[in-house]
Amino acid sequence: MTSEQTGPGGEGGVGPPLPGYGRVAGRDIDIKPPEGELPVSRGAPERKLERVNRYDRRAELTERQVLCEGTLSLDFEVIDVQPFHFAPGYFIAVQAEDESLDKRRSPYCITSPPNTDRSFRLLIRLAGGELSDHLSDLEVGDVINFRGPSGRSMIPKEDKGELVLLATGVGVGPFLSLCPHLLGRGFDRPIRLFWGLRHLQDLCLVQELDTLARAHPNFEYRISLSRPPPGWDGLHGRLTETVPELLDTLGGKRFYLVGNGAMIEEMATVLSDLGVDQRHVYQEAYFNVRYRPEPATLTEIRSRFVATDLFSPFAHLEAQLFMPEVPATTRTGTRRDLA
Ligand SMILES: Cc1cc2nc3c(=O)[nH]c(=O)nc-3n(C[C@H](O)[C@H](O)[C@H](O)COP(=O)(O)OP(=O)(O)OC[C@H]3O[C@@H](n4cnc5c(N)ncnc54)[C@H](O)[C@@H]3O)c2cc1C
Repeated sequence: MTSEQTGPGGEGGVGPPLPGYGRVAGRDIDIKPPEGELPVSRGAPERKLERVNRYDRRAELTERQVLCEGTLSLDFEVIDVQPFHFAPGYFIAVQAEDESLDKRRSPYCITSPPNTDRSFRLLIRLAGGELSDHLSDLEVGDVINFRGPSGRSMIPKEDKGELVLLATGVGVGPFLSLCPHLLGRGFDRPIRLFWGLRHLQDLCLVQELDTLARAHPNFEYRISLSRPPPGWDGLHGRLTETVPELLDTLGGKRFYLVGNGAMIEEMATVLSDLGVDQRHVYQEAYFNVRYRPEPATLTEIRSRFVATDLFSPFAHLEAQLFMPEVPATTRTGTRRDLA
């Protein structure tokens, strides 16, 4: 997971860290020191640390909609008494209470804009995963256990530059939180959303996106189908095939990549090769997180980009490699360094 997680009390989280709690590195539990006067001996049973359930938050399902085959939208209301604050980009981690799932846990991004009514929406892709299937079986009135919200805010820190949002599948979710939130507060810089799906049957949420585009001329969205039907008048192909030629410039833009780890790794690597500062590329991979692209795939994607406004370390290196008059010893790297 690329998120810098902030647990209870993190940035925009649920208040300051609870006093007296420590965290066991790399494990999903908190530890709580025993209360009161303790014996000096470290081995004394009274000094034993207690495990604390961090999935102790509760929310009730208030609405359930099938958006298209394999994609669900679930609305929840928080029913515990702890504060519930989040920024676009935050997620909650759900824990299944079903015994057969052995307390299975997975993160899901919040796809509704921040609000004060303690409600939130999740967008769930049913791709054969056990917890997602479990969530799809919930009925209105059922309660889930979760922890969070936590994550990294997507709200841009600077007040200049266009936002270029790339999502595959349910990766569009956090943008449905970010865009209405920013636009509703008078954000006037261009926002371009490119949404990659496979089939026409995967298309949903178009009404919401159209409403946003009509109300805010600085927001536009394009859908790219990798397996379009005949007559499809949107973009044809994966995002890595269709978006590069639509970006006239790369400088000053803030890129957000969410969804399939393959798209994210390919895009982020190529953008970096072309000179985009990695600090300007927000990444959140939902699956395929260990994917590493072949050099030939990256070469192909790089060749599709038309923007030449940034200094490209990769082009610079290529030029050096093909300048025989430059002695090899003065070269700063090999092509493999950047591949
Ligand atoms: C920060 C973060 C936010 C996330 N937000 C969401 C979200 O809002 N909605 C959502 O549906 N998922 C989201 N995910 C992904 C989700 O947490 C994982 O898919 C998780 O494994 C689901 O748990 P599971 O038990 O259902 O599936 P698992 O049993 O863990 O297995 C799921 C299998 O399906 C594959 N898979 C998972 N998602 C997809 C997909 N979209 N398309 C194709 N194959 C897929 C995985 O590679 C895996 O093989 C998010 C992940 C992260 C890291």
